Amino acid sequence: MDTAVSVYNQININQANILVRNQRMSMNRSEPIRLAGIIEDSVVDGPGVRFAVFVQGCPHDCEGCHNPYTQDFNGGFDADIYKIADKIISSNIKRLTFTGGEPFCKARELVKLAKLAETEIRGTEIITYSGYLYEELLEIAETDKDIKELLTVTNYLIDGKFDITKKTSGKLFRGSSNQRIFDITCYPNSTKARLIERLEDF
Ligand code: SF4
Repeated sequence: MDTAVSVYNQININQANILVRNQRMSMNRSEPIRLAGIIEDSVVDGPGVRFAVFVQGCPHDCEGCHNPYTQDFNGGFDADIYKIADKIISSNIKRLTFTGGEPFCKARELVKLAKLAETEIRGTEIITYSGYLYEELLEIAETDKDIKELLTVTNYLIDGKFDITKKTSGKLFRGSSNQRIFDITCYPNSTKARLIERLEDF
């Protein structure tokens, strides 16, 4: 058999298998998450091409918020977690970004989404933005298992409110200089997060 044709057929078979598996996964299952939007091929929400999920609702009320329409908890639209997982799996993008809005206000739903994606795409890498500080999230996580789980599935946390007095365009993936990027892959085994300043640190 011609090798090129054989490889081509194999790719098609693999794609068909993924499609069938995805259809099976979402069949008769649905679970809502309130979203402001999705960008399936973002290049500004972290390194590389990323599947970015913008949750709806944020309690932080930062002056000069860059996404003010995401603040209202009653705004946005209901999306289905299983269908979003299907999209991620079909796109085969391993890099996800959870942003908003405040992702930790939708912790349970995002953990579910992360786990569904990870089941099919091993080695997903997740950036989660938050207006809360890392230290605050660690404290809340002691009594809130959803927050703890979102920290657990997150690889990189970008923390802190947007501070208009510290607005900058010179910080990697951040709007103000007070915001920090942590590698928290070690969590929950350790809370000693690694601070990231340059793209090469990712
Ligand atoms: S945390 Fe982000 S989404 Fe929330 S108010 Fe501040 S800038 Fe806006």
